[in-house]
Amino acid sequence: MSHEPLIVLDSVNKWFGDLHVLRDVSLTVDRGEVVVVIGPSGSGKSTLCRAVNRLETINSGSIRFDGKDLPAEGRALAKLRSEVGMVFQSFNLFAHMSILDNVMLGPVKVRGESKAVARERALALLDRVGIANQADKLPVQLSGGQQQRAAIARALAMQPKAMLFDEPTSALDPEMVGEVLEVMTSLAKEGMTMIVVTHEMGFARAAADRVAFMADGQLVEQAPPAEFFANPKSERARDFLSKVL
Ligand code: ADP
Ligand code: MG
Repeated sequence: MSHEPLIVLDSVNKWFGDLHVLRDVSLTVDRGEVVVVIGPSGSGKSTLCRAVNRLETINSGSIRFDGKDLPAEGRALAKLRSEVGMVFQSFNLFAHMSILDNVMLGPVKVRGESKAVARERALALLDRVGIANQADKLPVQLSGGQQQRAAIARALAMQPKAMLFDEPTSALDPEMVGEVLEVMTSLAKEGMTMIVVTHEMGFARAAADRVAFMADGQLVEQAPPAEFFANPKSERARDFLSKVL
């Protein structure tokens, strides 16, 4: 185990063609730390998340995870993806598989676990996210909130060192947002290292160790939530907060 922070972005730049979407972004996330990333639509939050498990490559700067530069390909990249769980706005469950099989798939196929062991752990994880009784159903038979909790269980089944959440509640009906945030809050309390992109300011206040505010591809400011919400330093953050709070 390395002693540097678990996730280290140093002067990261990313272009999509002529569009400069990450501008000299530097961010560190310590082990056990929860960083909530907020900012207007199009500011680069998703690209930042996706770059951390190399769903996007960057044009300059560096990203290190657990003491090493991100691997470019092969087994090392597959290992990185299993160590950095990702939960998206859309639940991305395999539609033709039961919830239980969705959660067991990675451990069996990628980690080479026996089906018996994977099944046991998958059931425990489904219990932990409160949907043990849905194990044998297909995703379509679950509510959005239940599907997103299944997606969280599926990521956790890989025993990740960190979890990335990209607007995990944005596609949910309002009455289901709370149950997903509750699971995320308990994960945070248990010491999971997390980067969470969200518009849920209540979650940021309650669960974040640090809030990072992005605008136009830049990480404009970062501070503990109490400090950030009480006293945002930049005009852009003040303007953003006046619209969302
Ligand atoms: P956010 O998540 O903060 O809304 P994104 O990271 O999704 O922002 O996008 C940042 C900018 O990059 C936006 O202007 C978006 O349109 C653009 N963008 C994102 N993905 C692509 C892509 N694959 N190709 C071209 N432009 C993209
Ligand atoms: Mg986004």
